[in-house]
Amino acid sequence: MVNGHIVKDGGILNADDMAPSLGVNSYREWIRRMTVDSRAARVMLDGIAIGYEPLGTPIIATVNHGRWVGICECGGAEIVTPNDPIFFCFSCYNLDNKYHVRPVAFPHEKEQAAISAVLMERDHKDMHWTPGETVEVLKGQNKVLREAKKSKKEKE
Ligand SMILES: [Zn+2]
Repeated sequence: MVNGHIVKDGGILNADDMAPSLGVNSYREWIRRMTVDSRAARVMLDGIAIGYEPLGTPIIATVNHGRWVGICECGGAEIVTPNDPIFFCFSCYNLDNKYHVRPVAFPHEKEQAAISAVLMERDHKDMHWTPGETVEVLKGQNKVLREAKKSKKEKE
């Protein structure tokens, strides 16, 4: 744990990494537990069936504090996984998508690995990636971060 965030050594944390700590084996099972198996959600959803086949507009994955995250139009943010790129917002229950999970657009596998490698050089608090930022841009940011760290140390 760093500043209340679960940290993964050697890679970007995804929703499947979180599953064991929630007593399930996968992100998909977690969504099921939080909807079908949760009494509160059942009351809230009042019999509405959640669709588990992804439909609708993809959510674009970003990296926030070393985690793959999807941000809903309602403002809700959920950790997601490239292993099973679906998104379900526990704030709005994907109401505007008729309660169906949505697809998630991740960068290609090679790009994910490259992004991960560059972000792993940073302190956890600085591990962010926004779609459109190239690996070269991230490397440039790493340089700035390193220099800022160095000058901070020199002042101490
Ligand atoms: Zn939402």
